[in-house]
Amino acid sequence: MRALILSDIHANLEALEAVFVDAQSWGGFDAIWCLGDTVGYGPDPAACIERIREFDLVAVAGNHDAAAAGLIDASDFNDDAKAAAKWTAGQLDAEQRDFLTSLPLVSVQEPFTLVHGSLRDPIVEYLLDRDSAMGTLALLETSYCLVGHSHIPFVCREVQGEPGFVDFSEDEPVALGDERLIINPGSVGQPRDRDPRPSYAICDTTDNVIDRYRVTYNIAKTQEKMRAAALPAHLIDRLNHGL
Ligand code: ZN
Repeated sequence: MRALILSDIHANLEALEAVFVDAQSWGGFDAIWCLGDTVGYGPDPAACIERIREFDLVAVAGNHDAAAAGLIDASDFNDDAKAAAKWTAGQLDAEQRDFLTSLPLVSVQEPFTLVHGSLRDPIVEYLLDRDSAMGTLALLETSYCLVGHSHIPFVCREVQGEPGFVDFSEDEPVALGDERLIINPGSVGQPRDRDPRPSYAICDTTDNVIDRYRVTYNIAKTQEKMRAAALPAHLIDRLNHGL
């Protein structure tokens, strides 16, 4: 089985479509595993929800999904994120809101556990350091954990009880072996690792490997739609820089 692992699509339909095309060129996929934040920031929240639902889909909730569905209030968000969350909520119909409301915080797809932020605090905590990695490893009941939220791709290996972060290189597939792993595929719709290209991964459960890929897309088209929707200028600009 080949799972297309997507996180933080953030309503960027051009980025999502580019990922679908690219994934086909690498052998395609049987299902989508979505790690949350399908909406928020970008100009196409409804279309992105509809598009991923066309496939065999496993998805967990992100903080922006919860805000758009009215499950949490966005008062913790910064001003730009707050403005985008409010705009996003107004773009969804009842059925799309129900879809976001129905998303679980955690999903187990043996031998993987899917969560947006961390197992300790699923839609809040950023898993980026030893402490947060330890917190998730303590709660992890499967061999591997897939996370998003930070928009930073990485592989975290547990070696003798200690988590160690390494780059999730595009050139080197990650072998799924005996070590427990926490993996972030990076963000489709708003990369923040100083590379504006959408980042995603494909897991092949027969070969027991995960590959990460990047793809170019029409950034200007997404930005044009964001301007037309009067979304905050900073959110438009950051797409150029991968920040
Ligand atoms: Zn996000």
